[in-house]
Parts: sequence; C-alpha cells; structure tokens
Amino acid sequence: QDISLSHIVEGSVDKYQIHAKKKNQIMVYERTSDDYKITGDAGRIEQVIKNIISNAVKYSYEEATIQIEVMERGRFIVVTIQDTGMGIPEEDLSRIFDRFYRVDKARSRAMGGTGLGLAIAKEIMECHGGHIKVNSEIGVGTCFHLYFPYEKREAQ
Ligand code: ATP
Ligand code: MG
Repeated sequence: QDISLSHIVEGSVDKYQIHAKKKNQIMVYERTSDDYKITGDAGRIEQVIKNIISNAVKYSYEEATIQIEVMERGRFIVVTIQDTGMGIPEEDLSRIFDRFYRVDKARSRAMGGTGLGLAIAKEIMECHGGHIKVNSEIGVGTCFHLYFPYEKREAQ
C-alpha cells in the first residue's frame, strides 16, 4: 500500500517536539515539498522513526540540536536523524542493535527503557527491504540513516 513517509515523519516530530522543548533542545524537521510514498506497514514504520527520535532526545543534553531530514538517494528514500548529543563509543556501535544492549548500563538504567528499541527498529527496516546506518562520535553526536527502498513512479 502507499503510505506517505513525509507524513509519518512529520507526525513523529510533532509528538517528540514537546519532550525536546522540556530539555531546551531544538528539533528541526527540514520539510520539503516532495511527498515520498512507500510500501509498508505505517504503524511499524512509525514505531521505528519514533524510537530513533526519542533516542536522540533521551541521549542528548540540554540545548542540543536534533535535525531530521527526508531525501531521495538513488533507489532509496533516506530519513536522517542527527543529534548533537552524548554520542556512542566506537566499540559499542556494532552492538547497539543487539537485543537489550545499552551503552553504559548505569546511566541507561537511570534513563529508563529496555534496550529493545533499536533491535526492533532494525528488524522492521529489514522486513521492509531497508536498512539502518549509524555514525557517531563521542561528545559530538550521533546520526542515524534509515534507508527505505523506493521506486520512483512517473507522474501520470
Ligand atoms: P528502549 O528503546 O527499549 O526504550 P533504549 O533506548 O535504551 O531502550 P535502544 O533504543 O535499543 O534502547 O538503544 C540502545 C542503546 O544505544 C541505548 O541504551 C543508548 O545507550 C544507545 N543510543 C541509542 N541512540 C542513541 C543516541 N542518539 N545517542 C547516544 N546513544 C544512543
Ligand atoms: Mg530507544
């Protein structure tokens, strides 16, 4: 079925805007006029995007900036969620998609959550023929890219 990715992202940003404001964070969604339609389960895709956005808010300090973008890149639509938060140590990067894995157990426990969010996100992305990439630098920030397969349709 045709679902609007831009619409899902917009709704998720609106939902977490209030949490970001509470931490004096600035969350910006770079809206474009393009509306990308993809095939998939809207509820599950929303779950992925919400988890990544909620992580960005949760693992960033006060006054951080969170930037969200949707763009077309080759055969994919890429949703980028970038934060200026605490970052993830390189040695942990390959494990954050494991079930129950959390960086810095004590700190994470204090923040709540189960450590399942990214494992579920990865699974959902793969079910949709997509994938997730992450770049991070400790003390600088983290950037997640969600790749959704996309077939451009000619306007009729
Ligand atoms: P849950 O999503 O189940 O509520 P969680 O947020 O701890 O719990 P994941 O979403 O799977 O679990 O994330 C795994 C771990 O990766 C987190 O505990 C955190 O240590 C790290 N992490 C995820 N996103 C970020 C981020 N944007 N910046 C820094 N660390 C992050
Ligand atoms: Mg999470």
